[in-house]
Amino acid sequence: MTVERSMLCWQKARELILEQSSPLGTETVELSSALDRVLASNVVSSRQLPPWDNSAMDGYVVRAQDVVEGQPLPVVGTIAAGHPWKTTLPERSTLRIMTGAQIPPGADAVIMREDASEQDGLVTFRRAPRLGQHVRSAGEDVRVGSTVLSTGACLGPGELGLLSAIGKLIVAVHRRPSVAIVSTGDELVTADEHPGDGQIVNSNAHSLLALVQKSGGIGRILPIARDRKDELSHTFREAFSADVVISSGGVSVGDFDYVKEIFTALGAKEHFFRVSMKPGKPLVFSTVEQQGRKTLVFGLPGNPASSLVSFELFVYPALRRLLGHPTALAAHPIAQVRLSEPIRPDRERTHFTRALVTRSATSPFELWAKPLSNQGSGMLSSLVGMNALIEVPPGEATLPVGSELSANLLTAV
Ligand code: AMP
Ligand code: MG
Repeated sequence: MTVERSMLCWQKARELILEQSSPLGTETVELSSALDRVLASNVVSSRQLPPWDNSAMDGYVVRAQDVVEGQPLPVVGTIAAGHPWKTTLPERSTLRIMTGAQIPPGADAVIMREDASEQDGLVTFRRAPRLGQHVRSAGEDVRVGSTVLSTGACLGPGELGLLSAIGKLIVAVHRRPSVAIVSTGDELVTADEHPGDGQIVNSNAHSLLALVQKSGGIGRILPIARDRKDELSHTFREAFSADVVISSGGVSVGDFDYVKEIFTALGAKEHFFRVSMKPGKPLVFSTVEQQGRKTLVFGLPGNPASSLVSFELFVYPALRRLLGHPTALAAHPIAQVRLSEPIRPDRERTHFTRALVTRSATSPFELWAKPLSNQGSGMLSSLVGMNALIEVPPGEATLPVGSELSANLLTAV
């Protein structure tokens, strides 16, 4: 949906970005560095799990048919985990067995210790067991030849444990995107310099680097580019060798806002400019193809809140997609929240209001959103403590306390 000539709604803008974003090529990594990476091929198990029948309980292992009410069985030994019992369980007898210990030949059921009483080497059972009771059978968890994980699976603690158990210690995953961070502006100095008259610290580079790192990308801060065409060309030419370029500043309608023009001059194809949202209206998205490689190029606005919000809504989904996450997982989780303070919507544009979302103390499924004070897009202090962006649709009337809105959750709540 186009809301104004040459201005897209944010959903359409994101759709166009995701259309241009596909999972990067593959590399192999060891399990110890595979957390949160996305599998680039199916994993088929060459082992079965459990590898052999074993006990699910601490107790006694028996032949089920040998257990008869009122007839105790002699205990002929103890099997600990890691110490297989090699000989056949003699008929009409039992062995103590521990959780995870191998079931000895001849036995077919385990009775838990709580259902048995042992005295003078004889054990009486409260009731007869079912055949196979408390026995974890070989292969019941994973069969040889079964696909345990499929392409697109995100490797978390559970997945990594499973991979180790089947001896798959090196996996093929999608590459992490390299991300060049470019800050533009004559007023900018690096954080280790003391800003002189008319100067400010290039704080965006630090916020953006953190966002890239949090999203799984490999960020690199390039030297600040002055608002001069030759300098911008030089810096962006270097930046275009990355998978993704995030630039901030210089994309608005100011006299020295050359970024958009330089992207085009360097051969980038512009997909859109300007999104009907607040903050972050001026936003250029382009792509460059060089030697069969595609680079996604984001020209974000310079105001700190605008660049941060634009990153969360547009760059984050693209990075996730490049990392191989299915589209549904490429965006932040959405939750229904209630306003704890009234909000005045913008008349024309969706306002992504920075907020702190917390759970109700009495009803844990209820989320309350407190808009952070001072939503000015240049306000750095308004970014402190933010964990959500509330989507406030355009409108005339003030939204009262308790109004229900949807929010992008940036961290777990
Ligand atoms: P621009 O988008 O270049 O017009 O910049 C908009 C506002 O954001 C101006 O007040 C800039 O000084 C500020 N700004 C631009 N780039 C940065 C940056 N890297 N870090 C902090 N503030 C910035
Ligand atoms: Mg500027």
